[in-house]
Amino acid sequence: MRRRGLLLAAGLGLTGAAARRTSATESDWRALAAAMSGTLHRPGDPGYDQAHRLHDPRFDHVRPPAVAGCATAVDVAAVVGFANRFGLAVTARGGGHSYVGASTSTEAIVVDLRLLDSVSYTNGTATIGGGARLLPIYEALAAHGVSIPAGSCGTVGIGGIALGGGFGMAARLAGLTCDAVTGVELVTADGLIRHVDANTQPELLWACRGGGGGQVGIVTRYTIKCFPMADTGSFTAYWPWQDALAVARGWQQHIAPDHVWSTLQFASDRTVRVAGFTIGADAQPELDRLISAVGRPPENASVEQRSFLDVVRDRAGRATRATHLIGSDILPAPLSDETMRQVLTVVARRHGKPATVKFTPLTGAMSRVDPQATAFPWRGAFAMIQWLIIDAPADDAYAWIGQGHQAVAAQSIGRYVNYLEPDAQRLHLYYGRNYDRLRDLRRTIDPQRLFRSPFAVT
Ligand SMILES: Cc1cc2nc3c(=O)[nH]c(=O)nc-3n(C[C@H](O)[C@H](O)[C@H](O)COP(=O)(O)OP(=O)(O)OC[C@H]3O[C@@H](n4cnc5c(N)ncnc54)[C@H](O)[C@@H]3O)c2cc1C
Repeated sequence: MRRRGLLLAAGLGLTGAAARRTSATESDWRALAAAMSGTLHRPGDPGYDQAHRLHDPRFDHVRPPAVAGCATAVDVAAVVGFANRFGLAVTARGGGHSYVGASTSTEAIVVDLRLLDSVSYTNGTATIGGGARLLPIYEALAAHGVSIPAGSCGTVGIGGIALGGGFGMAARLAGLTCDAVTGVELVTADGLIRHVDANTQPELLWACRGGGGGQVGIVTRYTIKCFPMADTGSFTAYWPWQDALAVARGWQQHIAPDHVWSTLQFASDRTVRVAGFTIGADAQPELDRLISAVGRPPENASVEQRSFLDVVRDRAGRATRATHLIGSDILPAPLSDETMRQVLTVVARRHGKPATVKFTPLTGAMSRVDPQATAFPWRGAFAMIQWLIIDAPADDAYAWIGQGHQAVAAQSIGRYVNYLEPDAQRLHLYYGRNYDRLRDLRRTIDPQRLFRSPFAVT
């Protein structure tokens, strides 16, 4: 495969930056299209308007010079070679769920990986195309009684989520998505198709496990360790707003076993909610333990034996394109009452407008991974805060998210790279002590900055 990619790229005169010209002619673009087994969309082509869109309509105005629907790693290598030849940038597009539109650009050829969506399973390991989405992955693996740890939104791409980390209901049991990644097929800026694993290219594997999208190359295939999936319970409990602080204390103090995942949420309509999943166990005992830790009865609570797959199916079925605006804070330890009160004030200030603050755990299996083993920097931390607004004007939303950051500034140590915010000059906040290592690797592997974007470390 790798040799074929090189030969094809060389045949088109596409390798390296040496033969760079100022701009590609229409006949150059046609030659690229003819060399690909997928489809190249240029502005004006039928299909371009659909192909260039991301999940969030906020980025529809961004019109890349081409969207290359790649069907193979060789296609990806050909596009990279073409970009090198003509001095163009490249950005990968997986599920298209980037919160900042990082998978499109007016200056970069978009390598659309959605055709690379195969999923297979052998001996505890899944082999997954770099453009597959979570719901089809879960469905294919469920047929084998297994799953991978990943997120709860079925239309998110494995490409972005695995590169940046990957939180979901199995993270306390089986780790983050990136923790389960054992190897990748990676097309790097030099056009090579590399087979990356812990033995052959450990530094590249490190970067592909938590370093975020758009840094060291385009992943065309993942190998990911699976865990046995069991029947799953779920619970939801609501408390009145006046109990918010008690609920926060109880949720923070309650030490649940690894098979339990729960999130604490405060919404601007004064909703206080804890929602959770229990993999391979009944949800009721866990809900009871939580209620006892809170010390106040919920005003409403429900328990279901509903499989995770059903939950994800339901959400994916209803998924429409929407504007999601998000911010995050990483907490090394539980928030003090005083800081939690400030968080509640920030939420209450949004009354009448949509906003949710969600606390998700960073404990369990994901906290026990060797901090040097992956580029995900937040091992051993306690929880993450998400500041989330759906379908609101961006300026207004980010102003509120800024208030949230301020409220917890004394206790926050960073942010989550899959929840990027537009202030790219603060990129170091997403990487902590791993920033320099990732930057040095990027300078070596992509010296011409083929994957240039405001969100690529430099
Ligand atoms: C509605 C919604 C729900 C979400 N739920 C969760 C959740 O439960 N848990 C969680 O951890 N995160 C969640 N996220 C965040 C999500 O993990 C990130 O937005 C992620 O980057 C999306 O990946 P994608 O492939 O869909 O996006 P894209 O926009 O396609 O890509 C995101 C970034 O990754 C790069 N990229 C994508 N694929 C590849 C590839 N194969 N090779 C190289 N680079 C690639 C892109 O260039 C871009 O920089 C959610 C986001 C949304 C919008």
